[in-house]
Amino acid sequence: MMKPCLILGGGVSGRAARRLAETLGMEAEILSDPAPCPPEEAVAHRSLLVTSPGVVPLTSPLWQAAARRAERGEVEFISELEFGFRHLPRRRCIAITGTNGKTTTTELACHLLNASGVPAVTAGNIGVPLSDIAADMREGKLQPETLPVVEVSSFQLERADSFAPVAAALLNLESDHINRYAGGFEEYCEVKRGIFRHVPEENRIFGLSLPAPRRVEVRAGRLFVDGRELIDTAGTRLHAPHNQENLAAAVELALRLLPEGGVFRREFTDAILSFEPGRHRIELVAEQDGIRYVNDSKATNPASVLAALRTLPQRRCAVLLLGGLDKGMDFTPLLEEKERVRFAVLYGACRAAIAAVLDGKIPFAECGNDFEKAVEIASAHALPGDTVLLSPACASMDMFRDYKERGDRFAAAVHALLSERSGGTGPV
Ligand code: ADP
Repeated sequence: MMKPCLILGGGVSGRAARRLAETLGMEAEILSDPAPCPPEEAVAHRSLLVTSPGVVPLTSPLWQAAARRAERGEVEFISELEFGFRHLPRRRCIAITGTNGKTTTTELACHLLNASGVPAVTAGNIGVPLSDIAADMREGKLQPETLPVVEVSSFQLERADSFAPVAAALLNLESDHINRYAGGFEEYCEVKRGIFRHVPEENRIFGLSLPAPRRVEVRAGRLFVDGRELIDTAGTRLHAPHNQENLAAAVELALRLLPEGGVFRREFTDAILSFEPGRHRIELVAEQDGIRYVNDSKATNPASVLAALRTLPQRRCAVLLLGGLDKGMDFTPLLEEKERVRFAVLYGACRAAIAAVLDGKIPFAECGNDFEKAVEIASAHALPGDTVLLSPACASMDMFRDYKERGDRFAAAVHALLSERSGGTGPV
């Protein structure tokens, strides 16, 4: 007996889709490549095919067989995001995408809405698939009027043709995930812009680096809404330019959801003041002999490294640890801030690709796959006043489980090194 719903990919998203299918009374099965039978057979005799974002269209035989059946009009083939959205009882959410700043903006928008009396939950790429939210609502575990604030990756926007957030933000578009798309950067941008497909024009929000009419402006670190000052970011943890961009987008989203004047209420500005970006994002780990050690492990593309470098004072003060798994990215943007980099230490799978870009422009050393050695060399090149910055520009999965493990390994290596230098007198 064939199960009517087939889910491709058995990670967090695939399991959430199966749960939602079962909540809806559908029998569901999960399959991953390589399938136990020919892919055409595996996807046959199903009435619905749902793909997880981690399944790669260019290389997955199952995905390709599913797409062929869908093209022949034999079956619907949708993404997990689309599946979750269709089954939200109110079909109502807001969404955030972009190359960088998605998680920060999602958490911030959710925090600001909750503080202003609009019950909201974070969802999507941030870790709780929209299918889980829909299942929670249908099982009575979450009030259906709660507003999902959905972080959306480009992967999730593929095959999500009816996804219709009431308002959405596209923060920025930079080189990342290019190896997923046969059409390269252009196709990546096209997929990202798909977030607006069903969003009314007045509710389409663009980050500060993208040209668009806007109600929120930032001048000299101060945020203005319709020309009236809302807050000076100097008093918040969002004062760095990239976080000003995230804050501006979160406020624009709030303007679409709160009653007139809502963003000027005390609870809203207090919520901005109390917000802290998550771990592994330009996080101070230690300071010794005038040298700061900063963990920015979540920086997995060149644009996010530039954001971190721009938080530092001018002129050769960063010793940068770079490397990891390449996503077909263009590393040349790293040179835009070469004046701030004293030295770079390269490690991991794509060190040669980065070395080719830095060659003759930024002095560097290569350390193979020895991460602890890389930290040691970086520290040896730093002078008082410098920052040893792990902002790797790449994904972590060549050497680590994820960016969190990479950040934690960096912190541990720094503490071990500094404690050794100070004569082993305990943690620094
Ligand atoms: P994402 O979810 O898109 O990966 P995060 O908020 O987790 O975004 O931040 C990822 C990395 O990008 C961190 O290193 C952070 O410092 C940096 N970053 C955050 N917001 C921006 C932005 N608006 N522009 C550039 N870099 C950013």
